[in-house]
Amino acid sequence: MTIALARRYRPKRFSDLVVQDHVAAVLRGAVSRSRVGHGYLLTGPRGVGKTTAARILAMALNCARRDPSGEPCGECENCLRIWNGSANLDVIEIDAASNRGVDDARDLRERAMYAASREGHYKVYIIDEAHMLTREAWNALLKILEEPPPGVVFVFATTEPQKIATSAAPVMSRLQRFDFRRIGPGAIRDRLRQVLSAEGLAADEDALTLIARHADGGMRDALSVLDQCLSFGEGTVTAELVREVLGLADDELYDELLRLVVERQPGAVFSLVDRLCDAGVDLSEFMAGAAEMLRALLMLQLGAEPDGLTEALRGTLESYRERLAPGDALRMLRLLAEDETNIRRTVNPRLAVETMLLRWAMLDRVVDLEQVLEAGKRGSRQAGKQGASPQAPAEGSGATYAETSVTRSRPRSPEAPPSVPASPPSASPTAKLVPSIEAIRAGWPAIVVVARVQSRFLGELLAEVEPAELVLPWLNVMLREPNQLFAERLEKEAAKVEEILSRSLGQPVRLRLVSGSPSGTPEPKPRRMSDTSIKADRLREFRAKDPALDTAADALDLEIVD
Ligand SMILES: [Zn+2]
Repeated sequence: MTIALARRYRPKRFSDLVVQDHVAAVLRGAVSRSRVGHGYLLTGPRGVGKTTAARILAMALNCARRDPSGEPCGECENCLRIWNGSANLDVIEIDAASNRGVDDARDLRERAMYAASREGHYKVYIIDEAHMLTREAWNALLKILEEPPPGVVFVFATTEPQKIATSAAPVMSRLQRFDFRRIGPGAIRDRLRQVLSAEGLAADEDALTLIARHADGGMRDALSVLDQCLSFGEGTVTAELVREVLGLADDELYDELLRLVVERQPGAVFSLVDRLCDAGVDLSEFMAGAAEMLRALLMLQLGAEPDGLTEALRGTLESYRERLAPGDALRMLRLLAEDETNIRRTVNPRLAVETMLLRWAMLDRVVDLEQVLEAGKRGSRQAGKQGASPQAPAEGSGATYAETSVTRSRPRSPEAPPSVPASPPSASPTAKLVPSIEAIRAGWPAIVVVARVQSRFLGELLAEVEPAELVLPWLNVMLREPNQLFAERLEKEAAKVEEILSRSLGQPVRLRLVSGSPSGTPEPKPRRMSDTSIKADRLREFRAKDPALDTAADALDLEIVD
C-alpha cells in the first residue's frame, strides 16, 4: 500500500462529498453562476470533508475544463496540482495551528495583495484550524475582507466555530458559513465498501461496523483504520482483526457486563476486568463502548433504531431489553458521564473502571413512579366506587379492570405504545382521583428516586420519611427515626418536596411533619433499613392490603426482593 487510502480516495468533485450534499449544492451553484463569495467558513467535526471541499472549490474555480454545473473535471493539470496539494501559486493552504503570530498575519496580508497568477484564475487561501489564528491575524484578515482584491477567496475550516465567534466576530459576519454534518455509520460503511471493491479487497460486515463506530463520524479516520488493518496482511478484513488493531473488546465481554448488572453480581466485576486486561483491551475504549451499548439499548427499548451494532451485539441487546429498565440504563449512563474524565485521566484506569462497574452492579433499581401511582389511583378509585354505589358491577370486575387496563410502560414496539386511559370507562365523572395513603407509601421509593435526581441531599432526606396520612391538601409524614436535624432540614426543603409530591400525585399537596413512630407496620424494626428493603417492605404491605393493587403489581412486574 503505497498511497494512503484516505488520500487516494479523497473526493475530486462536489458530488463525491459524502453526506455534505447541502454544502456541495450551494458551492457548485455559486461556481456555475460565477457568484463565488470572498470568504467561507466551513465548520464541523474532524474528518468530515471540510478541507476537501475547500480544495474542490479551488479546483472548480481554476479548472480548465469545468463542467457547466460547476463541477471541476478532476483530470486537468490545474485540478491535479490542487488535488495533490503540490506547490501551487493559486492555492495556499495554511495550518493555523502551526502558523501563528504577527509575522504570519503580515505575510498573509502582503501575499493576498497579489491577484491570481494568471488571468481568469482565482487565488484560494485555505486556512485550517482557523480558531487557532491570533487576534493580529484576524485583524489583518478583516482589513482584507473589507476590501477584497478581485479573484481572491478565503476558506476557513474549523472544528470550533464558537471560538471564532468570540475572538473574531466582525470577520465571522463577513463569511458565508456552512456546517458540515457528522457522517453516520451507515454512510461510512458504504464508502468503505466502495473503496474495498475498487481495491479488489473484502471485509466482514461486522469489521466495517466496528471501524465506522470507532471513526465516530469521520471518514478520514475510518479510511486510515482500514489502511492499518490492510497493512496487517492479506485476505478479508475480519472483525477480529479490527478489534486487535483498535484494542477493542469482544462483544461477548459486553454481554458479560450486562449480565453481571442485571443479575446483580458485583463479584463478577473483577474477573471481567481481568479478562479485559489480559486481552489487551484499552479500558477507556471499553467504557466508551459500554456507553454506546447502553445508548443503543435505550434506543431499542424506546422504539428507535440504533445503528452501528454488530450482529452479535444486537442479539445481546435484544436479550436484555426487557431485563433492564430504561430508567436504570439512563442512571448507568449518568454515573458514567460523571466519572468519564476521571477514567480517561487516572493513573490507575483499572481501579476506576472496576469502581464504575461495581457501582453499576450495585445500583438500586428504579420502581417506576408512574406505574405505582397509577396503580394506586386506580385502587382508590375502585375502593371509592364500591363504597359509594353498592349496585355497581359485581365484585371481581375491579380486579379484571386492573388486569386489563394496567399496561407496562416499556413498549414492545414503537407502533404500540402503552395506553393509559385518561378517564377509565367505569369511573364516574365526579369521582375524585385521590391516591390512597397505601399507594403513596408504596410509591415512596420512587418519589425518593425522583427527588434524588433533583438533588442527592433531597433524596436522602425523603428516604428517612414515612407517609402517615393524606388529608388533602396535607400529606402528614413522620421521620422513620426521630432526628431533630432531619426535621429542620425537611421544614426548610418543604417547598421543593411539595413541588415533587404535587407533580407526582397530580394535585397540590402540602407537607406536614407530624411526630410519632410510623404507623401501619406492627413494630418499627430496630435495624436501619436499606433502600431496597424499604421498597420491598412497602410493596409487600401494599399488596397485602389491597387485592386489586396486588393484581396490578403483578401486571406491572414490580420487583419484590425476598
Ligand atoms: Zn480540471
